[in-house]
Amino acid sequence: MSPEQFREQGKKLIDWIADYYEQVENYPVLSQVSPGDIRKNLPANAPGQGESFDAMMRDVDQFILPGITHWQSPNFFAYFQSNTSGPSILGELLSAGLGVQGMLWATSPACTELESHVMDWLVDMMGLPQQFKTTNQGGGVIQDTASNALMTALLCAREMKTNFETNKLGGCPKIVAYVSSQTHSSVEKGIKIVGIGQRNLRVIDVDEHLAMIPEKMEQQIKKDLDEGYIPFFACATIGTTSSNAVDPVRAIGEICRRYDIWLHVDAAMSGSAAVCPEYRNYFDGLELAKSYAFNPHKWLFTNFDCDCFYVKDKAVLIKTLSILPEYLKNEATEKGAVIDYRDWHVQLGRRFRALKLWFVIRYYGVEGLQYHISEHIRLAQEFAGWVDQSPDFELLNQPPFNLVCFRHKSDDAFNKKLMDTLNKSGKLFLTHTVLNGQFWLRMSIGQTQTKRHHVENAWRLIQETAEMK
Ligand code: PLP
Repeated sequence: MSPEQFREQGKKLIDWIADYYEQVENYPVLSQVSPGDIRKNLPANAPGQGESFDAMMRDVDQFILPGITHWQSPNFFAYFQSNTSGPSILGELLSAGLGVQGMLWATSPACTELESHVMDWLVDMMGLPQQFKTTNQGGGVIQDTASNALMTALLCAREMKTNFETNKLGGCPKIVAYVSSQTHSSVEKGIKIVGIGQRNLRVIDVDEHLAMIPEKMEQQIKKDLDEGYIPFFACATIGTTSSNAVDPVRAIGEICRRYDIWLHVDAAMSGSAAVCPEYRNYFDGLELAKSYAFNPHKWLFTNFDCDCFYVKDKAVLIKTLSILPEYLKNEATEKGAVIDYRDWHVQLGRRFRALKLWFVIRYYGVEGLQYHISEHIRLAQEFAGWVDQSPDFELLNQPPFNLVCFRHKSDDAFNKKLMDTLNKSGKLFLTHTVLNGQFWLRMSIGQTQTKRHHVENAWRLIQETAEMK
């Protein structure tokens, strides 16, 4: 494609995306297709001859769009928000346009330095502990997902605890990790991947707010020590996926400090709330964490993928993951004058993700981000109030952030049917969880375009549908 053709088609594509955002509210939020529907419309073999861009876009409209669940619809309330924005999409486009591979400082200095700078900005913007700043002992890196950030933290913790011997010798069957029954499943996955083994994962009970009980964790640690195990890692969550519960980070952190355990704090879903000073109380004790992650690709208007991962001591991270083959050697690396992010995560190659985050922060400004995040939380609290006052529905608890768990007062089967009917209507999309053996509906309010009237309409529809059942 020549630059001239690119210019022409690119303009059309930007128009298409702008039209999509104008129309997105009119599409059924949850894709209504059945398994196989998309593939059956696609040719069995790749085209022998190149095709026109116009033909491709016609197929997008006809065959692809029906198979899209519209995450960017203001009526998307399912799972967790994954909100994007114009500046983020343009930043992503620019990143693709530059086509930079930023594995080393030397392979594109701006890719590394902008990332370090934006990660340091976020520390101040969100009131995070200064220890996480790249200009201090720690540092931040953009990873693809919270799952990989968590796995990186597990590797660092494993190496710290085993004197960097596991990297050389393999398996360490005695080290044990601590999570709550509400911790995200990525810890269990990470534990398997890094060779700890599921049997060395201790699942600690939660209290009535579904937050980890620190005393139970300490009891388990003592038991493990008595039995010859070596506690090495704990994960506390600020905003669990199921119910947005907040673990007591300070209390868990104090225990970790006493027993020399690596504390990772996972705020993948709700960490963006820290941009608003009034919600920083939920982050109390974060300075006790050895690592921390939150996802701008969930709730900071930045499209997937973009996870911000911080460590207290970058030397540990680099020592854990560093390997320097001959072909990557260069003067800047050898002088130790630069960050080479290839040492900060599992993969070698990396995209210029900082661009989109930089664009988002500059476009909205800190005050703009604070406005939108606090508005989402305010809408969630308002929705929770309506549920609470309703004679037919009940609320799990007062939501700390923007996820409301609620249910109709009848049984699980009724709630499941209610959810399925609502989702089939295409007018909104919400999902469920099971807490204490009961089926709960989850309403996550945080899409970029969601306004009060969308939340009001959703509540009206939920009530009307429940009456018809
Ligand atoms: N941790 C929490 C608390 C989450 O809510 C999620 C996703 O829902 C994850 C981790 C995993 O996020 P990712 O898809 O970035 O790996």
